[in-house]
Amino acid sequence: MDIDKIRAEFPILRRTIYNHPLVYLDNTATSQAPDSVVNSIVSGYTQTKANVHRGVHTLSMEATELQEGARRRVREFVNASSIEEIIFTRGTTEAINLVAASYGGEFLKDGDEIILSVMEHHSNIVPWQLLQRRKNLKIRVIPVNAIGELDMEVYKSLFNERTRFVSVCHASNVLGTINPVKEIIAIAHSHGVPVLIDGAQAAPHLKIDVQDIDADFYAFSAHKMYGPSGVGVLYGKKKWLEMMPPYQGGGEMIESVSFEKTTFAELPFKFEAGTPDFISIAAMHKAIDFIDNLGIDNIAAHERKLLDYTTARMLEEIPGMRIFGTAPDKCAIISFLVGNEHHYDMGMLLDKLGIAVRTGHHCAQPLMTALGIDGTVRASFAIYNTIEECDMFLAALRRVAAMLG
Ligand code: PLP
Repeated sequence: MDIDKIRAEFPILRRTIYNHPLVYLDNTATSQAPDSVVNSIVSGYTQTKANVHRGVHTLSMEATELQEGARRRVREFVNASSIEEIIFTRGTTEAINLVAASYGGEFLKDGDEIILSVMEHHSNIVPWQLLQRRKNLKIRVIPVNAIGELDMEVYKSLFNERTRFVSVCHASNVLGTINPVKEIIAIAHSHGVPVLIDGAQAAPHLKIDVQDIDADFYAFSAHKMYGPSGVGVLYGKKKWLEMMPPYQGGGEMIESVSFEKTTFAELPFKFEAGTPDFISIAAMHKAIDFIDNLGIDNIAAHERKLLDYTTARMLEEIPGMRIFGTAPDKCAIISFLVGNEHHYDMGMLLDKLGIAVRTGHHCAQPLMTALGIDGTVRASFAIYNTIEECDMFLAALRRVAAMLG
C-alpha cells in the first residue's frame, strides 16, 4: 500500500507541533478524517442541508437519500440482515445507554445478574450502574489473565439461573486485546442469554459480521473509524428491537400522536427521536468507503507491522519499559509505563516533541485498579502511520525517559 498517497488525503497530518512534524498516535481516542469525509460535510452544508424525512422539496429528499444511503452502507459493512436493524446514535456510548435503558428497563428484573468484563470502557459500565439504581441487579465481572486476555474459564463459571445479559468489548481500548466474541456469544446463548458487543475499537481494524458472531447488539462510533464526530451505530437483532420500548420520545419516532394515545414509528425510526446528525451520517458513508477501498485486512496488516516493530524496539531500547497487554491477538495499541515515571509527565514532554499520545486511565478505571496502576501512556496506530513515525516516537521516548529518569 502507498501510505504516502493515503497520508496526502489527511491534511491535518501536515501540521507541525512546536516546530516538529505531528506524529499522531492517539487513534484509539479518535482517528483523523480523510478529504472524502471532510468534503462530504462541506457539501452537506453548502449543497444539501435540509431536514430529513419531512420534506417534499428537492433538498430534503436529497438529504434523506444521503442519510438512508448511509444506513444501507452500514448494514452492508456489518452484514446485518436488514436496514431496520441499524439505528443511528450519537456514538457507542449512546448506543449502550439505549440498550441498558430500553432492553434493561423492560426485561431485567430485581435479582437478575449481568456479566461485564474488567477491561470495559466506562461507557460499558456506567449505563448498567444507572440501571442498577432502578433495579436491584448484580454485576459480575470477567477478570483478565497476565497478558490481558479474558479468563474464559471464569467467564463460564459466572453463569447461573439469574444471569440475564452479557456486555463486553470486541477489543480493549487499553490492552488492545481482541476478545473471542463469537465464543463469548455462543457460551451466553447456550444459557439463553443475549449479548451486546462494544465494537468501538474493533470497527476501524477488524472485519465485523454481526450474523457470523450472532451478536444480539453491536455498538460503534464513526469518529474512531476515519469518520465524523457525533454519530455512531447500534445494530440490534430485529426480534429484540421490536420488543423494546423507545429510548427517547420526540419527532421522527412516532406514527401518530394525540394526548390520549401515541403510537410509534416502525424500525429503525422508533429509536431515532429528533433530528439526527444527518450531515455526519452521510459523511460516515464516506468513512466506510475509505476503509473498504483499502480493505480492512490490509489496514490490519499494516497496523500489525507498526505494532510489532514498535513494541520490540520499546522493550529492547528503553530500560524499565512495562507494556500492559501482550496478548498475541491484539489491535495496534501500546499502553506502557517506564520505571516510576508519571504517564502525565511523559505525555506532556512527548507533545513538546510533536508526538500525540494519550495519558491517564483511558476511561477504564476498574482495569487500572486490577493492574495496580492509576494510568498509562498509550500510543495507538492507524493506516496513515509510518515506520518513520514509529522511529520518531521511539527517539522522542528515549529522550523523555532519559530526561525524567
Ligand atoms: N467503548 C470503547 C472500547 C471505547 O474505546 C470508547 C471510546 O474510547 C467508547 C466505548 C466510547 O466511545 P464514544 O465516546 O465514541 O461513545
